[in-house]
Amino acid sequence: MILSLVEEIIGLLCYILSYTHPELISERNGVAAYIFSFITLLLITMSIAVLVGIENTIYSNQKKKIEKQNKEIEDLVASQNRFFSSMSHEIRTPINTIIGLNEMILREDISDDIAEDAINIRSAGKMLLNTINDILDMSKFQAGDMKLLVETYKTGDMMSDLVGMLWLRAKEKNLEFHVNVSPDIPSELRGDEVRIKQILMNILNNAIKYTKEGSVSLSVQCEKKEDGIVNMIYSVEDTGMGIKKEDIPYLFTAFKRVDEGNTKHIEGTGLGLSIVKQFLDLMGGKVTVNSVYTKGSTFIVEIPQKAATDQVIGEYNYNKGSKLGRRSGYKHRFEAPEAKLLVVDDNDSNLLVVTKLLRDTKIKVDTAKNGYEALKLTQDNPYNLIFMDHLMPEMDGIECFRAIRNQAGGMNCDTRIVILTANAGEENRSLYAKEGFNGYLVKPVTGNDLEDEVYRQLPKNLINIVGDSSIDEDTVSWIKENERKKRIVITAEASSDIPKALCQKYDIRTFTQRVRTKEGSFIEGEEIDTQGLLRYMENPENTAKVEYPTVEEYERFFAKQLLSANNIVHIATTSSEENSAYKVAKEAADSFDNVTVIDSRNFSTGQGIAALMACRMAEAGMTVNDIEEKMKRLVSTVRATYMIENMTFLARDGSVNATYAGVLNSLMLHPVTTVKDGSITLKGMMMGSQKRVWRKYIDFTFRGYKPDSTVVFISYAGLAKKDLDWIRAEVEKHHKFKATFLVETSPSVAASFGPGSFGISFVFIKRL
Ligand code: ADP
Repeated sequence: MILSLVEEIIGLLCYILSYTHPELISERNGVAAYIFSFITLLLITMSIAVLVGIENTIYSNQKKKIEKQNKEIEDLVASQNRFFSSMSHEIRTPINTIIGLNEMILREDISDDIAEDAINIRSAGKMLLNTINDILDMSKFQAGDMKLLVETYKTGDMMSDLVGMLWLRAKEKNLEFHVNVSPDIPSELRGDEVRIKQILMNILNNAIKYTKEGSVSLSVQCEKKEDGIVNMIYSVEDTGMGIKKEDIPYLFTAFKRVDEGNTKHIEGTGLGLSIVKQFLDLMGGKVTVNSVYTKGSTFIVEIPQKAATDQVIGEYNYNKGSKLGRRSGYKHRFEAPEAKLLVVDDNDSNLLVVTKLLRDTKIKVDTAKNGYEALKLTQDNPYNLIFMDHLMPEMDGIECFRAIRNQAGGMNCDTRIVILTANAGEENRSLYAKEGFNGYLVKPVTGNDLEDEVYRQLPKNLINIVGDSSIDEDTVSWIKENERKKRIVITAEASSDIPKALCQKYDIRTFTQRVRTKEGSFIEGEEIDTQGLLRYMENPENTAKVEYPTVEEYERFFAKQLLSANNIVHIATTSSEENSAYKVAKEAADSFDNVTVIDSRNFSTGQGIAALMACRMAEAGMTVNDIEEKMKRLVSTVRATYMIENMTFLARDGSVNATYAGVLNSLMLHPVTTVKDGSITLKGMMMGSQKRVWRKYIDFTFRGYKPDSTVVFISYAGLAKKDLDWIRAEVEKHHKFKATFLVETSPSVAASFGPGSFGISFVFIKRL
């Protein structure tokens, strides 16, 4: 760059010199020209060589620098990782003593003041522990080191564990805790159970944490996909403080806590949801949020898992057998006075904690301060269970484990050995599993953790259950089939004219609009019905027009439906009109993660038929994305036509020119329209006696189409029963439908087309 600049300047100077002092220029002879061009060539080659050389040096210097930086970063990440895991180990050991001995204080007959202090110590200890776990996970994600451990697990047991861990927390805050598990979930799945539990614990904990009163509900459903994959859908709903729309995009950012004005007094680091998101990315899952600020939130987690069996979970109940149940006030849940336990740990406090925490179970506990002491004891004393620490000086837990297994003449070659360690993390869990340990407990342990593990490992003939060991059924409500949240609910505007019977059968929810008349605006169907509106319109002075709803109205409608559904697929009226309901619904849907708006490119029964198609797809178990894709194609297979009795109403609401309408009316011409790409298209004018016109219109509707035989909708306004019977018979002459529905159009549609008009809508298989 510099060289070429210098060259440019020299060149410029030569030109200036030759211009100002022409006498200096001399004619070049042949030899001089050769020499000159040779020198030029030489100079150019040299400058290129110098340039390339410089660039090469810069490039290799930079490469070295980047390599060095990368190496430094790798070293830094590795040492940071080492630091975090050793920090985690170092912190866990003293917390084990704090939490364990604190629990012993709580078990004593102490004054309320002391109990309150001890409870605060317990929650501070747990909080510290959660933070350490989160930091450890975060550092692993940052180092790209996080791995999943995929194993077969029992879905019911996982659910029991979750409920067992959370119901008490909900109860302590006086919150209702509802659980509903769909019976068609496979009873065994393959995946990382521990991490899935961690994800759900995080979200459920937040729901409890950020809810002052009301309830927290967990609902579990699944969608079956190909190759035995099921999409597990866990939905956690609370009636808590909710999240502002503008905060939702930041929820999953690490260290970010939103709405700090209201949340700063609630403990938290802002790491939880970021970890949840990263785990879900690793599992190919996703999390979506619907929230109404101050009203509550719903977090929906979807995780694809492989079904490990064809058996389903069935009507699910908390499995009391798998856990012993947990109560707030401690009471030991079993006694095993005949059982003998050996605890091996180099730390005196840890030995003390385990011994004390198991005191009430009357188990005989021996302790050993290192591997050699342990081996001396295992040589001659038969134990029913051994708890082994990992990191111990001289002989570590794994070496000691191997030695016990192979001890010549030893009494404990087959005794169950559980590793009890401060080494948290998945890689450690699998390390111990590979080694052959019979269980894995991470410090700090609570009395409940220890009792659960001892209960799991000991032969049942050594255990006597004491007292009542079931969980408080009143606190956890198990939701029955009919109260369960629906996976997908289909919604549409009420003007989609879906027969009531079908709305009930498929649980289609409709959004009602308002009709504006000179007397004011009325909610259609509720404050004004079709007959009433047509009577009102008998006065030629009166007008009625549908009012476009606002974004807020749609938001309220969707939020309400989401209370009983995980997803909404809204089949909207045509998008072709300006300010159409479709556009408004779409804008409202943007505030939710789980509302999908599909343009039906139609209205009235044409839109209704589209909604029915979507319902059938949802019932067949299709996912929202699949429904959306398929509907985009299928909306163009709806044939919807309308026969308008006369143009009076259309002229009155300003849709057509009044003079033009007057001329057509006086000639007794009846317009026939179709809906194409969402717009009404005039297909012709029919003239003659009423029945002749109707017959011609029906012929026209079916001509050139092969209908799908399922269903035909006939929508009408202001027609008598005998006329409707006639129309129906005429329609059925053209095609044998399995069901014919006569639907009185909604007030807003009737107000446009006027009495005596009717329409026919069906799905066609092909054009003939
Ligand atoms: P934290 O440790 O702060 O709870 P999270 O990552 O778990 O961190 O959550 C991030 C933020 O999201 C929280 O600080 C809180 O503002 C908000 N949040 C999460 N869950 C809920 C919920 N169920 N209701 C209201 N706000 C929530």
